[in-house]
Amino acid sequence: MSEVVSSSRFSADEHDHDDCVELAVENAERICRQRGLRFTAQRKKVLRLVWNSHKPVGAYDILDRMNRDGHKTAPPTVYRALEFLIDADLVHRLDSLNAFVGCPEPNIPHAGQFLICQSCRSVTELDDSKISDLIESSAAGQGFKAVHQTLEIQGTCQGCTTSGN
Ligand SMILES: [Zn+2]
Ligand SMILES: [Zn+2]
Ligand SMILES: [Zn+2]
Repeated sequence: MSEVVSSSRFSADEHDHDDCVELAVENAERICRQRGLRFTAQRKKVLRLVWNSHKPVGAYDILDRMNRDGHKTAPPTVYRALEFLIDADLVHRLDSLNAFVGCPEPNIPHAGQFLICQSCRSVTELDDSKISDLIESSAAGQGFKAVHQTLEIQGTCQGCTTSGN
């Protein structure tokens, strides 16, 4: 068995998602403290909204929810908070969906590999170092130095396969 960090254990329908959110916030608080980063109330709020579910969420959905409690938040504020969370490895950007998803394992440096379900839009993050190492060495074979890699794999998740969606 290779070292695979997967968020799939959190993705099952029956679980207390509040625990996931609290864990994500605790992780973020600790990581920001360790790295001397400021985890402001605004950033915390955006992180919570990204973690609203295990499905990727768009910036405008986040903005929408931010403004639900009567506050008016400007789009750049949300983008800056997202930028911060991405830089701190707390959130990943999924380019193919133009959306964001919380990282379940922000403590471990990793290249994100994402299994994206085309039916229910759920996302499972893999962190298989065999895959990232292979990409790195293949790239190096071309004289290319890989700095950052994100893999987005589209398909059908186990839940949707069994329910025939
Ligand atoms: Zn959850
Ligand atoms: Zn991650
Ligand atoms: Zn699915």
